[in-house]
Amino acid sequence: MSLIQGETGAWEVVIGLEVHAQAVSNSKLFSGASTTFGAEPNTHVSLVDAAFPGMLPVINKVCVEQAVKTGLGLDAQINLVSIFDRKNYFYADLPAGYQISQYLRPVVGKGQLTIDMADGTSRTIGITRLHLEQDAGKSLHDQHPTQTYIDLNRSGVALMEIVSEPDMRSAEEAGAYVKKLRSILRYLGTCDGNMEEGSLRCDCNVSVRKPGGKLGTRCEIKNVNSIKFVIAAIEYEARRQIQVIEEGGTIKQETRLYDSHRGTTRPMRSKEEAHDYRYFPDPDLLPLELDPAWVENLKKSLPELPDAKKARFVADYKLSPYDAGVLIEEQASADYFEAVAKGRDAKLACNWVMGDLFGALNKAGLDISNSPVSAKGLGELLDLMSDNTISGRIAKDVFAAMVETRKGASAIVEEKGLRQVTDTGAIEAAVDAVLAKEPEKIAEYRSGKDKLFGFFVGQVMKATGGKANPAQVNELLKKKLAP
Ligand code: ADP
Ligand code: MG
Repeated sequence: MSLIQGETGAWEVVIGLEVHAQAVSNSKLFSGASTTFGAEPNTHVSLVDAAFPGMLPVINKVCVEQAVKTGLGLDAQINLVSIFDRKNYFYADLPAGYQISQYLRPVVGKGQLTIDMADGTSRTIGITRLHLEQDAGKSLHDQHPTQTYIDLNRSGVALMEIVSEPDMRSAEEAGAYVKKLRSILRYLGTCDGNMEEGSLRCDCNVSVRKPGGKLGTRCEIKNVNSIKFVIAAIEYEARRQIQVIEEGGTIKQETRLYDSHRGTTRPMRSKEEAHDYRYFPDPDLLPLELDPAWVENLKKSLPELPDAKKARFVADYKLSPYDAGVLIEEQASADYFEAVAKGRDAKLACNWVMGDLFGALNKAGLDISNSPVSAKGLGELLDLMSDNTISGRIAKDVFAAMVETRKGASAIVEEKGLRQVTDTGAIEAAVDAVLAKEPEKIAEYRSGKDKLFGFFVGQVMKATGGKANPAQVNELLKKKLAP
């Protein structure tokens, strides 16, 4: 638990998150219109999405499947009967005057998610529920000096709202929660997790209290769209609340906005209560009933999820929990690592993937899915090292050339003549040539200056262009330098 020091002593931060995750589906929650991102405004709008009178919503089975899969991935209770409600409010980009959502009976109930902290500790965070709801359209305020334009492409797109218990105790824990949730959603293929395009948005509920005291009044920071901002917004908001209380004020429950340029939050509106929305079951939709066998089949078809994969990497490949945690964050890097490690030294494979490969990708701004070096290519490089064709030192150069030219390891080794010299005669000649030039250093070495051994090794490696087999060089030098 990390506390914040105020003027009057330590404060505990309490955080609950509401994440809106767009369900992966070609069409919307209740209409056949496309969900493609970035299309011309108002080109993906059906009469249902535009709320024409008399239009009827029809539930999209794919979206239900995504919600149930996500629930299963969060170890949550699946409700075989759930209800769609109308949540009534006026907004210019909400033509129906209500949003179809789920209120008292969501499709998914209580579940849990384990977060992994940088210091190696883990904690379980409660999931309160997951419900399906429609997204609203978008108001464009920057298209005209005096008018607002409306784009309804997003109107009716399926969102899974995933609500956590107020179980987090620091901004870092909230960041770790979003990171883990995004990873699980991507493994499941139920949300692409793209925060920049808005497919994953986070509302952060924050309050503060004296450790062990009762829960404080919370403020909700709306629509935070990156993990970095989630951490920064909560950090700021907690300190703001502490200051207000310590100066004798009280916290008003309200909805606030995060300003990423200023790094501050500011009020947006006072908080509505559920009764303000006049929720009632949507008369156009039947209760959503799930077939238990269908749910059971979905459960059986779930992929291996991040926590299970991490445990397996630690057990089977003897990786540290930290290394395993980094490798499994994205399914693509986990797959890449496994392809390289198969039949090879797993620790070595891990070092190359996390060190050299991730470093190169980072530098080039590339994703592992378009890596210039394939898993097969990196495997081949490791094989050249293990059969002594090249030394570990030369392998670094070969890898750099692979990144640059996208050629295979063997081709580069041949082309540049980088094969390791293992011919004892040739190495001995190089050793002799170096020693012949350094009679004084030899004398110093023999009189006890052991550190000079490294100098001799370096000279021989230099003379052979780094290609001499290091073990053989060591052995020969030891023999020849012996008094
Ligand atoms: P609403 O539906 O009005 O947004 P909920 O009771 O569903 O309210 O809670 C929304 C979120 O706020 C949940 O993630 C919950 O964990 C969190 N939350 C509730 N009480 C607090 C609190 N005192 N401090 C911080 N977060 C809280
Ligand atoms: Mg809410």
